[in-house]
Amino acid sequence: VSGEQALAQAREVDLKRARGETLGKLAGVPIGLKDALATRGVATTCGSKILTRNGKGWLPPFDATVVSRLKAAGAILPGKCNMDEFAMGSSTENSAFGPAKNPWDTTRTPGGSSGGSAVAVAAQMTPGSLGSDTGGSIRQPASFSNVVGVKPTYGRVSRYGLVAFASSLDQIGPFAVDVRSAARILEVIAGQDERDATSIDAPVGAYEAACERSVKGTRVGVPEEYFAAGLDPEIAASVRASIDALANAGCTIQPIKLPHTDYAVATYYVLATAEASSNLARFDGVRFGMRVESAGANLTTMYGDTREAGFGAEVKRRIMLGTYVLSAGYYDAYYLKALRVRTLIRRDFEEAFKQVDIIATPTSPVAPFRLGERTGDPLAMYLADIYTLPASLAGVPALSLPGAPTPASSGRPPLPVGVQLIAAPLDEERMFAVAAAVEAASPARALALPALA
Ligand code: GLN
Repeated sequence: VSGEQALAQAREVDLKRARGETLGKLAGVPIGLKDALATRGVATTCGSKILTRNGKGWLPPFDATVVSRLKAAGAILPGKCNMDEFAMGSSTENSAFGPAKNPWDTTRTPGGSSGGSAVAVAAQMTPGSLGSDTGGSIRQPASFSNVVGVKPTYGRVSRYGLVAFASSLDQIGPFAVDVRSAARILEVIAGQDERDATSIDAPVGAYEAACERSVKGTRVGVPEEYFAAGLDPEIAASVRASIDALANAGCTIQPIKLPHTDYAVATYYVLATAEASSNLARFDGVRFGMRVESAGANLTTMYGDTREAGFGAEVKRRIMLGTYVLSAGYYDAYYLKALRVRTLIRRDFEEAFKQVDIIATPTSPVAPFRLGERTGDPLAMYLADIYTLPASLAGVPALSLPGAPTPASSGRPPLPVGVQLIAAPLDEERMFAVAAAVEAASPARALALPALA
């Protein structure tokens, strides 16, 4: 929590307002930040022990571009949000600082890896926050926590100052209490940046205004592969109800095929781990955070000891997997093959967007699971990412917004359900328009937050 900073920022907005100056788009609005974003002089740990020294987090000498843009828009930045270590995970249980809990049922996970950012919004700490999404880390926690979460087109938002996980996939995006608020935050943070060579030089859309647009005549595709075996029937029913609401709003609904969906999990976990193994080489005990120096150590043993003590189990697993798939003799069989399948997955979307304007799916095949339920089985954790990974691999924009919660009668408490909308590259305006139409018809707010009741 950066209380002093938040109060100073709030005072500045008050002064500006008193002087009658023009205020920014987020003047006075508190926004939480995933702790993967560099914040000048404010501890940044990425959920990892390796970015701490003597119990204190790394203090970046600069702000991430998104952080500078939020500040320039008058936002208040009250603190950093918990996350899976280096954004690797789907439950925020891989944080070195303990798990985040789902405010709708604190025995369950809020999702991950941006779990803290989702919880900040769900528990009404901040009306908006930022997360990062490499394979679903904004959309899945948004789904589990009953809030809106947006992964923009790859390159739409500058990643300068985001601690890199898998650079060909990473993208920053907003969480918010509703679609329009998420749209406004994206308007503030989006746009080209000379400090990120992958950022796209295209005008930023009028995302907030797009929320008022009519969706009549919009062609909505429903991929059969996303409603197949493994999908919780109550989630299927909820998502279908949201799709019906779109039909009522004048959209045409049509079945489509995304035939390579089944390969997304394997493809992603080869590519993401390969890139991570390279990106995480920089945490070596020299440049950032902690260093372990035992008696008689030399440079090589210092690297090894530091990484052994500083990284958690999941991060180590991924560095080993990624190093393996990149190693001589296996590169062609795994890494190169995965790159080729990624192209097929991207083509699935190109073909689909010749027939439809928007794709509607569940965000997650499963409801928020109990803390501890999947930590012993990494593969079970990975498989739950099946619906968010394809859009990441294709680089297309996607968001999750609350649908109707699961019914109370099912032997578990009513739990949040996320509806995922996927759009063609840079078609975020249309994505927001359709999301606003789903939201207008959704009874999601009927879910009572026990922690605040
Ligand atoms: N759950 C996925 C993983 O563990 C995605 C994480 C993310 O998007 N950062 O890699």
